[in-house]
Amino acid sequence: MARWSVRIDPAWSLEAWRDAARLALHRGVAPAELDWLQGQESSLLDAPALPPMRDADTTAADTPTYVSRAFVELAATCLCHRDPQRMALLYRMLWRIASGERGLLSIPTDPDVQRAMALAQAVRRDTHKMKAFVRFREVPGEQDAFIAWFEPDHHIVDRVAPFFARRFTGMRWAILTPARSVSWDGQALSFGPGGRQDDAPAEDAREELWRTYYANIFNPARLNTRMMQQEMPVRYWKHLPEASLLPTLVRDAGDRVQDMHDRGAHAPQRRIPARSIALRAPATANGDDLDALRTAAAGCRRCPLWEPATQTVFGEGPRDAQVMLVGEQPGDAEDLSGHPFVGPAGQLLDRALRELGIDRSTLYLTNAVKHFRFERRGKRRIHSKPQVTHINACRPWLLNEIEQVRPAVIACLGASAASAVFGAGFNLMENRGRWHALDDGTRAFATVHPAWVLRQPEGDARAAAYQLFVDDLRQLTGPQRAR
Ligand code: SF4
Repeated sequence: MARWSVRIDPAWSLEAWRDAARLALHRGVAPAELDWLQGQESSLLDAPALPPMRDADTTAADTPTYVSRAFVELAATCLCHRDPQRMALLYRMLWRIASGERGLLSIPTDPDVQRAMALAQAVRRDTHKMKAFVRFREVPGEQDAFIAWFEPDHHIVDRVAPFFARRFTGMRWAILTPARSVSWDGQALSFGPGGRQDDAPAEDAREELWRTYYANIFNPARLNTRMMQQEMPVRYWKHLPEASLLPTLVRDAGDRVQDMHDRGAHAPQRRIPARSIALRAPATANGDDLDALRTAAAGCRRCPLWEPATQTVFGEGPRDAQVMLVGEQPGDAEDLSGHPFVGPAGQLLDRALRELGIDRSTLYLTNAVKHFRFERRGKRRIHSKPQVTHINACRPWLLNEIEQVRPAVIACLGASAASAVFGAGFNLMENRGRWHALDDGTRAFATVHPAWVLRQPEGDARAAAYQLFVDDLRQLTGPQRAR
């Protein structure tokens, strides 16, 4: 039996594997006759390299083998696994498909299919963990330059890099791993050899802020250590600044729950206090500011909305704005641009502000939820309302923004924003346009979201909705807005 070898470089390249597989298939090399090599490996049986194809090798009788998109995607994912047998496995599957087993992938009990699925699942899990647990640290002495150290299980750096380029477009950053590194200069990704953990900064000032923030939002009543270890396996803790707090937080959780229980028994909370509304941000580290919050929020993983979205859309506006507008969540345009209220609803808001003579640049604009929640329909991303769990998870960011800006007045646009500021029981339709005093003296009211106005049928209904919206916002220009 003749024996051949092919070398795949880089070892996770779909293109390299596909070229080699096509060549082997064309030459009729059976899976058992082929050694798949990567890196500096040599063939155990000194099998010669499969000769490249020449034009003269192609005959009219040759028909290309077509495979499904599902197989191509499976192959691309499996190739990122470190299993040395993955290339041979994929070629064996391709050989079987080319030999007539067109429905191979639809046989879940087939051992080759099962193995390929397991490899792909491991790569997807590793990809998810890298997205979730990479933590950038500021490079001392350089502005807006960050480096992260991470140790993935598989060859996933090339696969995950575009995600970080989209998420941190405005930063210069590098991710170092033992086998490969990637950097982003604001324009393009560059890949290089692996690095060492010492090449990444050990700690930066934002980590203290992040730890303080994490300690404040940690809810001992919801602690589930088994789930926590599943979601945040101990081996990733070394990448996470908040991990140093976990032993203490977990140890003290029982006492804190008991304490919460005791306090709750003496002072039951009303869900919507009539006039005085609790509004208290978790304490944050000394010297923290909106920029530090913005940077910390860019890496937030407190709810699942971060993953499909492009980036965190944090609030924008003057640090000392007198008026804060709180919307629901970024939309498609905001998600892509990274700025709040720039899509169709933002344009409607701009129109209303212009009519009222309010200069948008004097306002602080933000959202209750900082990531875009959507459903995919074909190529379109359709807005999907955030759930209570998302609003609650994101609320500490909003409270910290309020704590930093200390506006005299807050206008909540829509029910989600109102429930983030006033509490979950707030009824927008009963309370719209009514002033409430928050317990720190801030005055606040809620009105509809401009997107709701746009959803009304064109014509009289939309014109009436718009007028109500403008009338509510008019309160920002009146005497009530004064402290
Ligand atoms: S929506 Fe808010 S809580 Fe959820 S990941 Fe984004 S910033 Fe974090």
